[in-house]
Amino acid sequence: MKCPNCNNINKKYLYKYQEFIADDYDLRCTSLQYQKPNLIKCIECNLIFSELLNIKFEKLYGDVIDEQYIKSIEFKKRYFQNTFKKILKHVNKASEVLEIGSYYGVFGSIIRPEVNKYKGIELSSHAVEFAKKNYSLDVESKSIDQHLDDIEKLDVIIMSHVIEHLDRPFEDLRKIRDKMNDKSIFIFSTYNMDSFIAKLLGKHYHWIMPMHKFYFTKSFLQNFMENNGLELVETITDTHTTSVMYFLTKIKTILPFLNFILGPLTNINFLNKIYFKINLGDLDLYVVRKK
Ligand SMILES: [Zn+2]
Repeated sequence: MKCPNCNNINKKYLYKYQEFIADDYDLRCTSLQYQKPNLIKCIECNLIFSELLNIKFEKLYGDVIDEQYIKSIEFKKRYFQNTFKKILKHVNKASEVLEIGSYYGVFGSIIRPEVNKYKGIELSSHAVEFAKKNYSLDVESKSIDQHLDDIEKLDVIIMSHVIEHLDRPFEDLRKIRDKMNDKSIFIFSTYNMDSFIAKLLGKHYHWIMPMHKFYFTKSFLQNFMENNGLELVETITDTHTTSVMYFLTKIKTILPFLNFILGPLTNINFLNKIYFKINLGDLDLYVVRKK
């Protein structure tokens, strides 16, 4: 398969599962779709990507309705509050923030009171309506392309767990760069395929799923930025907050043979109200400036 970064033709798989047969992709953020896509690692530039690379998901994202996410908004809030603390030093009362992939507006609702301007763009129109209604946020159903064509410059750009979903992440990164100036700051997060947990779990790594097209490492991203007029200022480890319920449901999906133990537990409602922070050291926030 042709590498979308360096065009090298790759013949070997990094992880090969059974052939992908699903023609219905579950693109919800909380997706539990178990079937994993075969992954390829480019021998030239080390990019890891999915064989579903050329299927255009962006249109499908427009129709996403994620009730499971809405149910778990309380713990998403805690997660984003924690993330916001980590990036606080890069924003201030004068900041004009663009959040790419603002989803149901949870992060936006935390950022909005702390900055001058907040704008969110998001493909799912259900999520956009929710964010407008519940958080009165300035959000629009637009692609990165559509939005960047309309604006002059970018100040603070935030993109949380989005880059791995994009159809053309490298083009998008360059377009974002073109609208940045010396003062702009671009913060995005993704999982790290070089992390201990990703290596330990190998092909069973929980972030390998159909809707994730790209699987980055810190060294790949650092390289990419250096070659594309961007500079990595710092990386910050992000901490995941989850509910006991979500965690058990996820494990049940990954390890179905544990169903007889976990099944009854996942019917206990109050488990949805217990949260815990889990730091597997595989989620990173990248803080980037223009060179
Ligand atoms: Zn490559």
